[in-house]
Amino acid sequence: MFRFVILALILVLAACATSPTGRKQLKIFPESQLVQMGITSYEQMKEQTPLSRDKFTIKYVSCVARAITRETDSPYQWEVNVFDDKAVNAFALPGGKIGVYTGLLQVAGNQHQLAAVLGHEVAHVLAGHGNERVSVAFAADSGLKLAQVLAGEPTRQKAQLLGLLGLGTQVGVLLPYGRTQESEADILGLEYMAKAGFDPRQSVALWENMGRAGGGSPPELLSTHPSGATRINNLNSRMPAAMTLYRQARANNKKPNCR
Ligand SMILES: [Zn+2]
Repeated sequence: MFRFVILALILVLAACATSPTGRKQLKIFPESQLVQMGITSYEQMKEQTPLSRDKFTIKYVSCVARAITRETDSPYQWEVNVFDDKAVNAFALPGGKIGVYTGLLQVAGNQHQLAAVLGHEVAHVLAGHGNERVSVAFAADSGLKLAQVLAGEPTRQKAQLLGLLGLGTQVGVLLPYGRTQESEADILGLEYMAKAGFDPRQSVALWENMGRAGGGSPPELLSTHPSGATRINNLNSRMPAAMTLYRQARANNKKPNCR
């Protein structure tokens, strides 16, 4: 009973968090813990997955990522790495750690489409979706030392945490984002890319390409970022506002030329 009261209290206090689009969120764990988790799992990724050595690819991806992260009002030191892997995938972790798989570049066919993916991933981080997902999953165990679990041996709990942070397909634990989080990441991501001077209309083309790619087996990114007609409608409904931001950016000479 006591435990229940404490839990209820934590939930009420924590529920005061608000996402960038004004949505009420449950966030139990301190931001610093999420950042530490992001950094730890990123370091592990870099040890376990070969990095691309192609100078042009690295320069291209970094150029697009930098243009996007410049438009975010965040305290992070953003870091970008390109992983040499055919998977059509990308991720961004709390603490500002971005990963792009070379396979994604086959589907995101130009800098605008890559910007759409990175804007979306960065939005998941800045909207605190990792914290929200971890909080829901571990609400009853708020004293859990998340960073310790991540730094330790592989366990089911560790795999689950990595999945909740956004590394689901990498560890074989499929934990798709919810529709609310996906739609929020789309809205914010569209804004970031437009402000950076990337053509927001290419976001629609990107998700259409994504839907067509892979034949029988859908791209990895789609298994944790479920997509559908509602996504395209959502993006299109926000397009007039995004086009205004885009034109302003171009007028201010933000014309990224990353290839
Ligand atoms: Zn997503």
